[in-house]
Amino acid sequence: MKYVYSFGDGKADGKADMKNLLGGKGANLAEMNLLDIPVPPGFTLTTEVCTEFYKSNKTLPKELDNEVLDCLSSVENIMNAKFGDESNPLLLSVRSGARQSMPGMMETVLNVGLTSKTIPGLINKTNNPRFVYDAYRRLITMYADVVMEKAAGIEPKEGEGIRKKLEHHLSSYKKEYNLKHDTALSEDDWITVIDTFKKEIKNTLGENFPDDANSQLWGGIEAVFKSWNGARAISYRKIENIPEEWGTAVNVQTMVFGNTGEESATGVAFTRNPATGENKFFGEWLTNAQGEDVVAGLRTPHPLNEDTKTKETKNLPSLEESMPSIYNELYDIRIRLEKHYLDMQDIEFTIQDGKLWMLQTRVGKRNGVATIKMAVDMVNENMINKKTALLRVNPDQLEELLHPTLDTENEQNTPILTKGLPAGPGGAKGKAVFTADDAELWHAKGEKVILIREETSPEDVHGMHAAEAILTARGGMTSHAALVARGWGKCCIVGCNELNISVDKKELRVDNTIIKEGDWITMNGALGNVYLGQINLIPADPDTNLEYKQLMTWADETRKLKIRTNAESQDDAKQAIKFGAEGIGLCRTEHMFFDDTRILAMRKMILAENENDRRSAVMELLPFQKEDFKRILKTMEGKPVTIRLLDPPLHEFITLNEKQINELASSLEIDKSTVIQRINSLHELNPMLGHRGCRLGIAYPEITEMQATAILDATAELTKEGVNVLPEIMVPLVGTVTEYTDQESIIRKVAADIENQYGLTLKYLVGTMIELPRACLTADEIAEHAEFFSFGTNDLTQTTYGFSRDDIGSFLPDYLDRNILYEDPFQSLDIHGVGKLVSIAVKLGRKVNPSLKIGICGEHGGDPKSIHFFKNNGLDYVSCSPYRVPIARLSAAQAELNLK
Ligand code: PEP
Ligand code: MG
Repeated sequence: MKYVYSFGDGKADGKADMKNLLGGKGANLAEMNLLDIPVPPGFTLTTEVCTEFYKSNKTLPKELDNEVLDCLSSVENIMNAKFGDESNPLLLSVRSGARQSMPGMMETVLNVGLTSKTIPGLINKTNNPRFVYDAYRRLITMYADVVMEKAAGIEPKEGEGIRKKLEHHLSSYKKEYNLKHDTALSEDDWITVIDTFKKEIKNTLGENFPDDANSQLWGGIEAVFKSWNGARAISYRKIENIPEEWGTAVNVQTMVFGNTGEESATGVAFTRNPATGENKFFGEWLTNAQGEDVVAGLRTPHPLNEDTKTKETKNLPSLEESMPSIYNELYDIRIRLEKHYLDMQDIEFTIQDGKLWMLQTRVGKRNGVATIKMAVDMVNENMINKKTALLRVNPDQLEELLHPTLDTENEQNTPILTKGLPAGPGGAKGKAVFTADDAELWHAKGEKVILIREETSPEDVHGMHAAEAILTARGGMTSHAALVARGWGKCCIVGCNELNISVDKKELRVDNTIIKEGDWITMNGALGNVYLGQINLIPADPDTNLEYKQLMTWADETRKLKIRTNAESQDDAKQAIKFGAEGIGLCRTEHMFFDDTRILAMRKMILAENENDRRSAVMELLPFQKEDFKRILKTMEGKPVTIRLLDPPLHEFITLNEKQINELASSLEIDKSTVIQRINSLHELNPMLGHRGCRLGIAYPEITEMQATAILDATAELTKEGVNVLPEIMVPLVGTVTEYTDQESIIRKVAADIENQYGLTLKYLVGTMIELPRACLTADEIAEHAEFFSFGTNDLTQTTYGFSRDDIGSFLPDYLDRNILYEDPFQSLDIHGVGKLVSIAVKLGRKVNPSLKIGICGEHGGDPKSIHFFKNNGLDYVSCSPYRVPIARLSAAQAELNLK
């Protein structure tokens, strides 16, 4: 087995398609070499080394030593320098690189190889002692933090880590000698600071900082492998669904320096604008700096070029102006990389004494708006085809276009509290919290929060995920917080330097204004504005986005699966049509009874003691129902509307307070104690498995009769008016064919009467939900009678697992933590088990009736992965909530393309 792959001087053992083995960074460094792009030479330790490392109790394979030595010696040959050498030392960087990029989630050690032996040599070579000591203190800080503390498993209290302690020494020194910036420290200053650093390390960690190049190299390598299982990497992997088995590669590469003087610089860039998708080169850079200075947000980065300048940065020097010939070289590389990779790239570069080096290229993270614009633009630029464009957009990213923005008028009348860099889209409001843990805690209690942090630490990922939006005092557009938030389509403002945050007091000051934990703030992520209090949010209107419309047209041309929506109200139905719904797949009639008059009639019906009373209560509901159905059928003119007969778990309607009981007693003209007695007599131990679904219509046929009458009367009247309506009447929670035929015969009889009465032949279907395992297993018997099936995967999941839909929250977190389940089966279909029942039911049903119409209306109808499954199993449509409709349209197109 080959463990180490080398690259340099236009040659490489690996290439771009070897990401699984070399990680994204390693594979692309190899590829850039093959493209003759200047890359500092180095080598990659494969992800298999990581796997071996964890298999053998965190020890590295023996064969690795020799392979590393071999590769190191070819790097030394190319660079004409030697690692650990007294007179001509080579310095190395050690970085992580997983298959899928995990920005900032793992560790890095730079400047490896600086020791008391090599320092004089490097001073001689560079003639720049100040630079050498600056590099040395950076190595010491990183090494102590990453290798000696984190990788050693030491977990200091917040604010007491070694890095913080060293930073504290540095700032005290600067204060004492009145030095404003790090750049003001002389060689002698650094020597003194370094001495203090070393003492602190020995004091805190009980060990000396190693003064040997090889120990530093191997310490760094092990620490990066260990960071694969660091807290923030684990939490990021969970959120992004990255498997633990993948492991990370480690890249060891020649150091190049952007901080040797004014002829040196470093920067990060995107080949197109990652926030808007515009085809404009976009980036940030700093002279005389190392890469971490740009992303850590300690200095405000400068704009790369004219296109990147904003109102705030328009007076800062761009690379385009300051170093035009290097900018042109970089611009040319930008074009070559995009042509080669056929996608937007996120690149890192360093200029050392006037020479440009590329340190990284990878497919750049971008928000949903930008993803769509780039995909459609690249088709128009003949770079990719429509199929690639459709597959490139993650359906969940569409959600962002459906995101709210701030009400403009309301916003204009609200004074701006402060401003930062607009790093994420849309608007958001929430209550201020100051730690990631608090964000998670408040979110779990159902609160909307905005996470406010000093800087952009990746340890905060769990809190960032829980928050509505993220606000930081430091950092730039390419800082970690910005990258991560943009990937999730979250509103985000960074570099808001007027914020004065006190985590201890849980408060924030901007001049004289104090914002305490729990106070509302509102953010405009597109402008970078922060406001005190709440501003109204306006729902998004994706129709104004031309690229979105284009992409969705391609999706609709591609997909065969139909998309319907779950809706009861006319407003929801209209919204869903706007989003592209082709019908209603589920109208839950019990949701039509939540207003005061109707719910009273509904309760009277449930509590009635005899058929007479019940019939009169039911008939009170008839006129309401008929109007409801007329409205919704008319709104959906020409499109099918599946209306489900009453299916209320009774406890949802008769869990009453004192006032409601009194109201009911007086309306029924009986006394209170009788009402309580009847409620008690209807009490069920397992209401989800109790008297609900078709069991209600079977016990009380007058309910089915009333609902069928309301639907078909509405249909007849509209048909008479010339409106084309297509109702589909659906019987819920059927387990045996006899339940179905019992209810069907009532509906057919009502239909025959109404057809007679109006002298019309009505267009309607009668079918059933398939939401119990027994219905799946006897689907052939049911299909002899039913004209359509609609899978109710909520109840089907509940009854297949035996997990209560309403109670899973009490144990699911344990199941997920301990990998007993990998995801919530109520969110994404359990293809293995519940899916098997779906497949069986489709096969049995279609064997009897090959043209049986089959859909799904459980929550899974809006989940991309589940949609692929439904498509592959031959369903005709999926039905989901209005806001998921665009996501379902795109997912259905992708399922079609994958099928081919
Ligand atoms: C289902 O069970 O999947 C379904 C759609 O019905 P409900 O959620 O109303 O029980
Ligand atoms: Mg159900």
